[in-house]
Amino acid sequence: MQAPEGFEPALPERLSQSNIDVLRLDRIHPVISGNKWFKLRFYIEEAMAAGKTTLLSYGGAWSNHIIALAAAAEMHGMKSIGLIRGDFRGATLQAAREYGMQIYFLSRDAYRQQVIPTEVWAHNNEEDVYVIREGGYGITGARGASTMLDNLDLSSFDHIVAATGTGTMLAGLALRIALTQKLTGISVLKNNFSITSEINLLLPEEKQNTFTVLHQYHFGGYAKASPALFDFMNNWFMKTGIPTDFVYTAKVFYAVNDLLEQGILREEERVLVIHSGGLQGNASLPNGTLIF
Ligand SMILES: *Cc1c(COP(=O)(O)O)cnc(C)c1O
Repeated sequence: MQAPEGFEPALPERLSQSNIDVLRLDRIHPVISGNKWFKLRFYIEEAMAAGKTTLLSYGGAWSNHIIALAAAAEMHGMKSIGLIRGDFRGATLQAAREYGMQIYFLSRDAYRQQVIPTEVWAHNNEEDVYVIREGGYGITGARGASTMLDNLDLSSFDHIVAATGTGTMLAGLALRIALTQKLTGISVLKNNFSITSEINLLLPEEKQNTFTVLHQYHFGGYAKASPALFDFMNNWFMKTGIPTDFVYTAKVFYAVNDLLEQGILREEERVLVIHSGGLQGNASLPNGTLIF
């Protein structure tokens, strides 16, 4: 599968005076940034091979997955359907609509049960539609995520750190790195302790439990934040020039900073932090919250 037009591969960038490199996936593409295209690529390939014309998936009103799906579908000449939790209509869904996505709103209950509303079948044929799970969770998504490390020389890194939502990206990283390298996921959901077994489900036996998920950096839960997190984001941007999103990557860099201060990440370890993108979601914040 071709990378999207305008795609720029990312290389690790060393933060000055530190043992930290950052893989700037936030810069690979103006719309499909971060990990989302990697997670979607083999689903799209499977859908096309099966003769499907339409991609359907689930997400929130500010979902990075939904906007990436809409843009990727359009690029491949496919239709897309977004099933959205709640009924908020913001900039992300507006942009997704501009890529031709059909959008349907689901109640919290219907969303939890991953219902497909009957209205969808008034406009689409069931046999044309390929369903991708929320957040691209699945073995195919993990296999795609592993390709974000293609063309990188990973041998000099001791430790890789990344955000963990569904855990699909972390599974992809686990597939690719050596057993001598450490892998840490920063969970952005509150007390989501089942994540370890959900990640293990995506992995062959020899890669299961080759990672650690930390649960103390969620700032109240998914898409929750606090003034302390926004202060951190602004300070981190001033210090490093790296913009972060408040749902995922701010929590990762906050964690890395904290683990360094506590001496849990040692200065002699070479660490690769995955900047998994998601900056478009900051548009949900009140103006003036962030300086970038
Ligand atoms: C979706 C997303 C993640 C989480 O990826 P999972 O594979 O669901 O764990 C991390 N960072 C950003 C910016 C994302 O958009």
